[in-house]
Amino acid sequence: QAKDAGRNTYRFYSEENETSTSELRTLREELHFSLQNQELELYYQPIIHTQLLKTIGFEALLRWRHPTRGVLTPDQFIHLAEGSGLIISIGAWVIHQALKQLAMWQQTFDQDLFMNVNISSRQLDDDSLSDTIRHALDFYQVAPRTLNLEITESMVMRNIESAKHILYALKQLGIGIAIDDFGIGHSSMNYLKQLPVDVLKIDKQFTAGIPHDKVDIAIVDALVALAVSLNLKVVAEGVENAIQFEYLQYKLCHHVQGYLFSAALSASQTTAFLADFPESIPAVFRKIMQPE
Ligand code: C2E
Ligand code: MG
Ligand code: MG
Ligand code: MG
Repeated sequence: QAKDAGRNTYRFYSEENETSTSELRTLREELHFSLQNQELELYYQPIIHTQLLKTIGFEALLRWRHPTRGVLTPDQFIHLAEGSGLIISIGAWVIHQALKQLAMWQQTFDQDLFMNVNISSRQLDDDSLSDTIRHALDFYQVAPRTLNLEITESMVMRNIESAKHILYALKQLGIGIAIDDFGIGHSSMNYLKQLPVDVLKIDKQFTAGIPHDKVDIAIVDALVALAVSLNLKVVAEGVENAIQFEYLQYKLCHHVQGYLFSAALSASQTTAFLADFPESIPAVFRKIMQPE
């Protein structure tokens, strides 16, 4: 019996692995057509100002509405796009789509709303990036200062000299640079001195430790203090409960994002979100702040 179970288990895993390899190949081929088939969609996660208690911007997050597999998140396909170089055209589409939406929301709701767009290392190294951004900003008439590119520490640390060159060129456009998932990569405070960074995003792994993990709390405190003293904006990711929010607000972390306020929303859901809470924060949260 045990032997059978063992063999079955073994066969199960072995088949699984083969399937997933060929599935991956299929997925990579399908991804190729996702753009022209209009299966890609941007979702938007609200970013909240901790003192003003209002939505001040968004992070654009990519989704693939796969014809048979349902909605896929970037972890399920972005590495395929990076491997095949497809990330360049997908990335350009993301920039256009995000700025098109931003222009609409700025006109309807608030000229100062900003948009954060995630950039992969392949895109950062590609010569077309700055032209793509300049063209999209111009086409949708969006103020450059309302666009932030999110890059990660590891992208920067691979080659500081090259990153420095590329980021200073991008800064010429007037846009902002945010370091995403700050604190989990190969951190070297040294690059903060050399690079034109505007925003630090504290990784959600540290936020998750509030209020119980003393080390996480110490790290959050240190990162907020570091950002403030370097005159950078600081955003905490992954804020899921009111205690975490209140702590970050008390520590004067500028901005937060997370499921407490909203997960990433479709464009139409985002419009409804802004219309419902033009000057304020979600009802769920208002209830927490002002109990009966
Ligand atoms: P990220 O930039 O660090 O984005 C934050 C991720 O955390 C998102 O996952 C978001 O849905 C999730 N999140 C937001 N609030 C919470 C929370 O309160 N708790 C928890 N546990 N998670 C939360 P998502 O959308 O699956 O994106 C994953 C990653 O994929 C992103 O991490 C980013 O690195 C990458 N990505 C997303 N969109 C793009 C894109 O357009 N281009 C590129 N190159 N990468 C993208
Ligand atoms: Mg990000
Ligand atoms: Mg992040
Ligand atoms: Mg991440």
